[in-house]
Amino acid sequence: MGKQAVVIGSGIAGLASSVHLARKGYQVLVLERHATFGGKLGVFNSEGYRFDMGPSLFTMPNFVYDLLDDDLSKQFNIHKLETLCHYFWDNKQPFRAHSNLDQFVKEASQYFYEDEHKIKSFLEKSKLVYDITSPVFLENSLHKINTYLSKTGIKGIANLWRLDMFKTMNNSLEQRFSSDKLIQLFNRYATYNGSNPYQAPATLNVIPHLEFHYGAYLPKKGMRAIAEIIYEQATRLGVEFKFNSTVNNVRKKSDQIVGIQDNSGVEYPCDICVSDVDAKVLYRNLLKTEVPKKIAKAENSSSALIFYWGISKTFENLDVHNILFSGNYREEFNHLFKYKTIQSDPTVYIHISSKAIPNDAPEGCENWFVMINVPHNDGQDWEAFRAKAREKIIQKVNTVLQTDISPLIETEDYLDPILIEQRTSSDKGSLYGSSSNDRMSAFFRQANFTSSYKNLYFCGGSVHPGGGIPLCLLGANILNKIIPDAED
Ligand SMILES: Cc1cc2nc3c(=O)[nH]c(=O)nc-3n(C[C@H](O)[C@H](O)[C@H](O)COP(=O)(O)OP(=O)(O)OC[C@H]3O[C@@H](n4cnc5c(N)ncnc54)[C@H](O)[C@@H]3O)c2cc1C
Repeated sequence: MGKQAVVIGSGIAGLASSVHLARKGYQVLVLERHATFGGKLGVFNSEGYRFDMGPSLFTMPNFVYDLLDDDLSKQFNIHKLETLCHYFWDNKQPFRAHSNLDQFVKEASQYFYEDEHKIKSFLEKSKLVYDITSPVFLENSLHKINTYLSKTGIKGIANLWRLDMFKTMNNSLEQRFSSDKLIQLFNRYATYNGSNPYQAPATLNVIPHLEFHYGAYLPKKGMRAIAEIIYEQATRLGVEFKFNSTVNNVRKKSDQIVGIQDNSGVEYPCDICVSDVDAKVLYRNLLKTEVPKKIAKAENSSSALIFYWGISKTFENLDVHNILFSGNYREEFNHLFKYKTIQSDPTVYIHISSKAIPNDAPEGCENWFVMINVPHNDGQDWEAFRAKAREKIIQKVNTVLQTDISPLIETEDYLDPILIEQRTSSDKGSLYGSSSNDRMSAFFRQANFTSSYKNLYFCGGSVHPGGGIPLCLLGANILNKIIPDAED
């Protein structure tokens, strides 16, 4: 019998890791608590509408293609979005952010009355910082000395002073631009990993570069297709999946994990164990040890409240991604991270996949994924929050779109931090593990390995390099680099 690898959890990082492990020659078993794979990339259908439940924005698709055999790559079809997002501040014409950088710069300059060169130089800086940081902070383990001794690592360290680590995102933007609206637009990128632009280091201003350089996409069969194609690749390589299998214990022998036990009472032997479980939950519930202080201390990222609405009308002014901005962004983040509540004028995000995938809604209708950022679960009264938020969202949509949305809602469901926690075991229902609000956050995140158990490896949103589909896939790539081949 060959060497056994057990992956706990089939979120996007667990799926990708299973592909890497199978290619390394391991016999791979994935144990998944739920009846299906994909974790946060859930999907449901209701009365002719299809809704992706979690991620809606897909960047850096190359990390998915890299995992696939040629014929599967051809099956994985994606739309490149020409428009990144429609940004609304009031009931006037929205700013339509073009994905072409030059066009974006030109149109942003006209809409926000900002100098073209200033916008362009900001995006060039964003690229520069990405190029410096990605080999050290994204593509390799932060906790291996080789990362710092490599050519790119040395270059990264030598250029750390250029990373704006000592300014916040917002400060750096205020120094460059005079338009509050443009500043708000770029500040919003902090929410891509559940952070606060008024606290997070300006290094996070790299995120716009990712959208412009790599583009924004939507798979032609919806976001769920990302999990489906990686699952197909995994099963093709012989990876075995066991669903409805909740791992509740791992058996340790000195510095090794030797067996993984699930709710059926079976123990699965393992030579290598990869956890795609939220790191804090793994320590508490599976390893049954204290969460290491550094990890426990890291501030959780924000969470989300989503309403899935089947809307019996189409809206010309809306696109695949739409933002209806809050009138007081700073207060919105104070409420999220300081007071752990929501303010009366939240920013509303509306994702409509049926704009690009007509079959996602009945004719003449649209599938609205309506989301606001909310704090992670700290025992708030979520039922009361939900009712209040629904009212505020409807008010905002009505004002901005000059409509009465309530009678157009044909079907409705929701997701909140409690459900996110229950369904994917994310600590406190956080979307992205820990926030990047502290300039040292990257170092507080769980490493991809541990010195306590030599054959235990970590991936997923709560682990280095962080949450979101591209980073989860990069985390799996790091495991590919550090886990030995089966025959070694
Ligand atoms: C509403 C929402 C919107 C988002 N928007 C975006 C976006 O637009 N773009 C983007 O890139 N990212 C987005 N994200 C973040 C992204 O979805 C996540 O970072 C990513 O999917 C996390 O993947 P993961 O590998 O960490 O696993 P998860 O998806 O967290 O899944 C973990 C899996 O492990 C299983 N598991 C847990 N404990 C056990 C156990 N004891 N035994 C067995 N199995 C177990 C769970 O059942 C689950 O299937 C969003 C997330 C949410 C919720």
